[in-house]
Amino acid sequence: MKITGKIEKEDVIDIVCDVCGESTKTEYGGYEYAQLSATWGYSSSKDEEYHEVCLCERCYDQVARYIESLGGKVAITKDCTQSSVST
Ligand SMILES: [Zn+2]
Repeated sequence: MKITGKIEKEDVIDIVCDVCGESTKTEYGGYEYAQLSATWGYSSSKDEEYHEVCLCERCYDQVARYIESLGGKVAITKDCTQSSVST
């Protein structure tokens, strides 16, 4: 026998940029954002910490320009399933 009833469920209702605070929700109901993360191990000074930041496209572009100003390069591919990391 199934017994039904109303339950409350936590779910994502928005993803906001960690820099400017703007919502990353699109007019189509999805989200467009960059998620940068790092998992630090025992050998780092951030022993066992996980760092994560969500960025809207505008703030991501600023971060990408900053990386390039440091001499770094953001790898860009057309296929989202592809990674530039090679073994
Ligand atoms: Zn932003």
